[in-house]
This record gives sequence, structure tokens and C-alpha cells, in this order.
Amino acid sequence: LDPEEFRRQGHMMVDFLADYFQNIEKYPVRSQVEPGYLKKILPDSAPYKPEPIEKILEDVERDIFPGLTHWQSPNFFAYFPCTSSTAGIVGEMLSAGLNVVGFSWIASPAATELESIVMDWLGKMMNLPKTYLFSGGHGGGGVIQGTTCEAMLCTIVAAREQMLEKVGRENIEKLVVYASDQTHSSFEKAVKISGIKLENFRIIPTTKDTEFALDPKSLSRTIEQDIKSGFIPLFMCATIGTTSTTVVDPLKLLCEITKDYGIWVHVDAAYAGGACICPEFQHFLDGIENANSFSFNAHKWLFSNLDCCCLWVKDPSALTNALSTRPEYLRNKATDTEQVVDYKDWQLSLSRRFRALKLWLVLRSYGIDNLRNFIRSHVKMAKHFEQLVSIDERFEIVAPRNFSMVCFRVSPLALGNKQVNKFNMELLESINSCGNIHMTHALVGGVYMIRFAIAAPLTEYKHIDMAWEVICNHANAMLDVN
Ligand code: PLP
Repeated sequence: LDPEEFRRQGHMMVDFLADYFQNIEKYPVRSQVEPGYLKKILPDSAPYKPEPIEKILEDVERDIFPGLTHWQSPNFFAYFPCTSSTAGIVGEMLSAGLNVVGFSWIASPAATELESIVMDWLGKMMNLPKTYLFSGGHGGGGVIQGTTCEAMLCTIVAAREQMLEKVGRENIEKLVVYASDQTHSSFEKAVKISGIKLENFRIIPTTKDTEFALDPKSLSRTIEQDIKSGFIPLFMCATIGTTSTTVVDPLKLLCEITKDYGIWVHVDAAYAGGACICPEFQHFLDGIENANSFSFNAHKWLFSNLDCCCLWVKDPSALTNALSTRPEYLRNKATDTEQVVDYKDWQLSLSRRFRALKLWLVLRSYGIDNLRNFIRSHVKMAKHFEQLVSIDERFEIVAPRNFSMVCFRVSPLALGNKQVNKFNMELLESINSCGNIHMTHALVGGVYMIRFAIAAPLTEYKHIDMAWEVICNHANAMLDVN
């Protein structure tokens, strides 16, 4: 590593990315390439001799850019956002440059201590109960992991070990976990990996009557039935802001039920958690005092660049009992005194990135006030889009808007005897193929809907208006032609 060459290439890369952000709107938002496109262009093997960065960057623009879906484009309204920011990128750069591996406190004390501090800062910003914070005096605390799926897996395994200690290992086949049919598929993956029998995963159906939220009565009935049949209720995942339509499960009521059975409750707010730094959204977390763990992705809606999943647990010892290892080669005085956090015991892997740096930079560079205003501006833009849809009688809103995502479709009334789902599916494909904007869909209760998720960092009102124009133009063309 030659510091001067790093300086030269680093500056070049910053310029390259600044130009990319400046010109991002000229690229089709969703990549238009066919599968296997890159193999046709790139050589079969790595170069034997070094190649200059200038040439590589030219190839990035020529060969890689066409295969990118531009998540940071102001016209990206698909999935949930993955918000970057200047502080988030610069923070990633700092962490990549330092490249420390803070698996235990001694391996880089600042990496561990900064992580504990920013997790407390963030917990306070979201008004989490003190029981989740290091500074709360109840033994709780937070950790930064890569993804929600990892956070879910770690918490299920923690709950599993805690329960098996109580009921005996031979009863592992009796453990049951609960979620709704709107819970993210990463929960199913976590359940599969955790060794819980998949037949013991109760997916509770939701209905339009409860706006597709997990119904406490259905949960209660299912648990009662399981107990009668000799099963052991272990874990429930509640969601604040489901992926399909941003539904919020009634956490308070759900926790009142699970409390009686000693069920571990994990609260997944992967996207919507970002909004909970604003006091007006914090009521969605009512009841969290009776849950066991809570996670959200700061890389989704808190400007912190992938990856940054923040997980808080009330009882970290449940995590460490399940996940800790003590190989001799990692033995050190600090660990032996048990006065320090060794984050390797709070997660799946041993090695870990210094993710806290970028979160620290984001929180400090913008401050709580600005971060709240960014979130609010996205919500305001979503309200504006919702209004545009509502006043056009050919369209309808198909799910209540809770945050910065609007679910809509061309309404059956405008379509006469055409198949509604098929029409909307074709409309979405037609829009995505043109490359001006990008949206994705959901299918809930048999209704195919188009999701319009706002939070890309460069999006302004003019992009919302332009997007609506694109949607109307495609709908007009299809309504006339078909
Ligand atoms: N939970 C919810 C509600 C989500 O919306 C998502 C992804 O969009 C996930 C979990 C999965 O997150 P990850 O990719 O971090 O595992």
C-alpha cells in the first residue's frame, strides 16, 4: 500500500463517484441488460500484468454501469430504499481505510466502544425503553450487524438456547415460532437455519379486516392450540412496517398475549425503524417494553449505507450464552475480567467491520434535527404522491400509507371487463422497461399492487411529479390500446 498512490487513486475515485451522482439521471433506473451479458464482454481469466485504474474506471462505466440498477437515482421508487449520504459514504471509506477487525474489545477498543455508544445514542433518539440501552442500568445493549436476517437468526438461537436450558434439549422438536403471512421471508430463512422444525413455524393468516396486521386473537388461539397439543411456544416476530404494504402489527396487544407464555418477541422494523427517530412515529413502538429484541436497518432509511442493521436486546446474556466461543488464541486480560463487550459473541461471524464509524459520522454530520427533517420530507413527498393518485379516478390507493410508501393500482372501475391484476402487472413492466423510473409490486389478499417507495437521497418534488406523469402516460397508452 503506497500512501501517495492511494491519495491519487482515492481522489480519482471520489471524482468518479461525484460525477456519477451528478449524471445519475441519464441512466435507465432499472438495468436493461439480459442475463449473462457480462460474461460476453469480460475476459475469461484475470490479467497476468497490472492494469491502470484509469482503464479500469473506463471499463466500469462501459461494462458495469449498464448492468446496474441505480438505487441512488432520484427516480428509484422500488423495494425499500437503501439510502446513502455523503457522511455514510465517507464513513464507509474511513472504515475501509482503517480496516480494523474488532471481534473482541482488545482487537480494537474504539471499534467496540464507539459501537456501544452510537447504539445508545440511536436508542435514545428512538425513545427505546432504558432496558434496551447499555446506559439504562438494566443490562441491555445494542450491536450492529449486517442484515435483519442475521439479527433474527441470532435472536432465535438465543431464545432457543434459553428455552432448552429450561425444558431440556430433548424437547427441541416441540419448539414453535409465530409470525404472520406478511412477515418478511428472511424470518423463514432464519427459522430454517436455527434448527426449529419448519412444520413448527406457524404462519398466521392476515385479512383485510385487520388491514393485514397480525391479529392478537388469532395468535392467542394458535398458541392455546399448540399448548394443548404439547408444543412449546418459543418466539414471535412482529413487524413495524411490513414489506408489502408497511402494515404495523399491534405490538402492545401482541405482547400482552406472549407475556403470559414467556415467548421471546422480536420486533422487525427493517425499513420503518428509521422513521421512529421522529417523535410522531414513536407510538408505533408502543409495547416494545414487553418485547425482547428490536432491529432496524439504518442502511434502509437512515442514510447509513449498506450494511448497517441495528439490533438491541434486553438480555444480551441470552445472545452471548448461545453464541460465545473462547478459543485460546483469542484469550486476553480484558475478556477474562468480563468488564468488556466482545461483539464476536453477539453475532454469527467472528470477524466484523467497523460499521459504527459511518453511523457516528451520519449522526454527527447531520444531527438529530436534520435527520428528522429528511425523514419528514420523504413522508411529505409520499403524501403528495398519494394525493395525485387519489384525485385521479382511474387509480386507487389500495393500502393505508403509514410512512413514505404508497400502494396503488389502476382501479377495476377504470378497466371494465379487463383483468385487473394482469393489467397492473403489465403496466408496471411497461413502466420499468422504459427506464425513466423504477417501482416494484406486492400481492396482498389477491390484489396486485404497485409500490411507490420514496427515500432515495436525491429525490425531490419534481421527481415525484415526473414519475406520476410517466405512470399516467403508460396507463393512458394501455387503456387506449387494450
Ligand atoms: N424485514 C423487513 C420488514 C424488510 O422489509 C426486509 C427487507 O426489505 C427485511 C426484513 C430483510 O432485511 P435484510 O435484507 O437486512 O435481511
